[in-house]
Amino acid sequence: MFTYINPRVRTRLIDQGFLKRIDATGALIDSMPSASPSAGLTLNILGPVPLPIHLDGRQMQLRWYAVVRSSELARQDELARALVEQGGQHLFATLTSAMAVNSVLIHDEPEAVEEPLIRVHSSCLTGDVFGSQRCECGPQFMSALNRIADEPGGGAIIYMAGHEGRGIGLWAKAATYLLQDSGENTYQANRSLGLPDDSRDFRDAAALLLYFFPNKTIRILTNNPKKTADLASAGVTNIRAERHLVGVSDWNRTYLAAKREWGHQISEDDIR
Ligand SMILES: [Zn+2]
Repeated sequence: MFTYINPRVRTRLIDQGFLKRIDATGALIDSMPSASPSAGLTLNILGPVPLPIHLDGRQMQLRWYAVVRSSELARQDELARALVEQGGQHLFATLTSAMAVNSVLIHDEPEAVEEPLIRVHSSCLTGDVFGSQRCECGPQFMSALNRIADEPGGGAIIYMAGHEGRGIGLWAKAATYLLQDSGENTYQANRSLGLPDDSRDFRDAAALLLYFFPNKTIRILTNNPKKTADLASAGVTNIRAERHLVGVSDWNRTYLAAKREWGHQISEDDIR
């Protein structure tokens, strides 16, 4: 809440080097409150926050960076100012829930590695948190974490908060699950709702890769050629996909077959 409540805290965090702003090319730009707004995509990066985690029987010490678009923050700022004027403190919860805050989780020092290992992970509440087997997101997240823990020099996970259901949001995703249960595949279900197959925007992830890992070859854990193509078209040209197939189960074989048909690098044997 600091950015809209107390500008002095923002200034202090900037002075301490905890709050930075980058443009779409990953270059640092002026983040002072007085700086005039830049055109195009700019991201605010807050951190590192030391994050000790215990997952899958493994203890790790991560660096966590919270990341949000300047355009989203500006919208929140405006709403917050209006709320303060009206004395509507209890409404602040609605403000924060609307903002997509992405995360960068870094283990060890991948910045010093020639070809850092990275997972750009789209948020999936049902898979990542609830352990749902309708998709393979949960096992993919856990496997990425284990792989960067075992990797010499570590690695990073960029967790994209606004990517639920390939960009359609959690509410629509629940509806697509019901449509799938009456026979549609994961892409048809999106179309039935009048939504695109995949509306995820990877420009934020690209800017973060360019900022944290400039001039590196990025080894990215994915089976999705569209993801590498989207990152490449946003400027991350030195990129190599590393196979990342885990979590195949009876519950998601049909889902993975649809992904395979759609272009994911999954073989028929993988999902047999
Ligand atoms: Zn999922």
